[in-house]
Parts: sequence; structure tokens; C-alpha cells
Amino acid sequence: MSKILIVEDESDISELIALHLTREGHDYLCIANGLQALPAAVEHQPDLIVLDLMLPGLDGMQIFRRLRSDTRTTNIPVIILTAKAQVTDKIAGLEMGADDYLTKPFSPRELYLRISAILRRVKKVTHVSEIHRGRFKLDRKNMKLFLDGSPLDLTTTEFKLLTTLMENDATVHTRADLLREVWGYNSDVATRTLDTHIKRLREKLGLAGNHIVTIRGTGFQFQTELPEAIAA
Ligand code: CA
Repeated sequence: MSKILIVEDESDISELIALHLTREGHDYLCIANGLQALPAAVEHQPDLIVLDLMLPGLDGMQIFRRLRSDTRTTNIPVIILTAKAQVTDKIAGLEMGADDYLTKPFSPRELYLRISAILRRVKKVTHVSEIHRGRFKLDRKNMKLFLDGSPLDLTTTEFKLLTTLMENDATVHTRADLLREVWGYNSDVATRTLDTHIKRLREKLGLAGNHIVTIRGTGFQFQTELPEAIAA
């Protein structure tokens, strides 16, 4: 369970976000006035902050600067949420070091997926050194994959891709999430690049490549247990 601080003066929006977070088993705290944001973040130490830009008291950009310059809050990931849809604002937000940026109107589901992606990235800092999933074993320290006990040669990118998929095998990873997690936020690699890497990874895995399942219209998922029709 993660704790999310929502800084948003429109109660309809904060309630909608809160509803989705609760449904997914997370805890939240809503703040409507910009002046309360930093003290709330210091006191409650949330795992992530959803920050609106247009706020009474203190605007979101100022709050963001204060959060980043305060050692007690500097490492808390921030998703900026705003009605300002201009590309320049978006770039400014990201250049300032926001972890993500979403413009209104937005889908609460999309916001939730982005929150999840960031929380996963943050949790990886304290990651385990080996991941076991059925026939697969990932040795992260030495960047090696073992399939049925035999080592397989993967490139760094293929290894990162497979690690991301295997780490959260209960999750369907969207193409956007994978591009961000494997290639980094600021890269402008095309979706095609991802598909090419998935294809090569599957080829290297041979029949076990079936464990990387394409979820039509969404992305990919690593499935440890395959339905018999696919496994055969
Ligand atoms: Ca607002």
C-alpha cells in the first residue's frame, strides 16, 4: 500500500483520483490550498505527490521548487496535473524534474497507471538481486538470464525489458510504460523499437518466448503460467 498526496483545489477531481487510489488499495491525503502542500509532504512523507498547477495560496510550480529544494521532500516523485495543455508548459514541467505530467481532462485510469509505473520504478531501488518465475531466473547483479538452468545471452536492453516484464508479472505493461522504463523518460524511441526488441527477445527464448504475451491494444505481459493452448 502506498500513500499519495493529492494537491488539487477542484474537489471533483481530487475525489475522483482518491476513489481510484482507494479501489487499488492505496492510501491518500487531499490538500486544496497550495500553502499547505509542503508542510503536508514533510509531515506525512507520501510515496508520491499528484500536483495541480493552478492553486490558491501558492501555485504548483512554486510548490514543486520548494519540494525539490527541501531535503525532507526532494526524493518524493511528483506527477504534475494541469489544465495548461500547451507543449511548452509540459516541457517546462519535465525540465524542472517532474516525474510525469498529465493534462486535464485526463482519464483517472491513465493517471493511476502512471502513478503505478513511478511507484514501481522507485521500489526497484531496493530490489532483490534474483527474480525467479517458473523456468526463468534473472540474476540482476551479473545481468544474466537462466532458462531451465542454462544461461542465455541477452543484450542490456533485452535484459532490462525482460526484467521490467518479469518483475511485475501480474501487470499488463503498456507500450508507453515500457518505453519509459526501459529507454528512459526523455528518449524519443519509436514504438516500433519496442516491438523489434520484443521480437528478438522472443526469438532468443525460443518456445519459452510464449511467456511474453501480447495484450492486444494495450501492451505486453510476462505470464509465468501459460494456458495449455499457448504452452503446447
Ligand atoms: Ca486548480
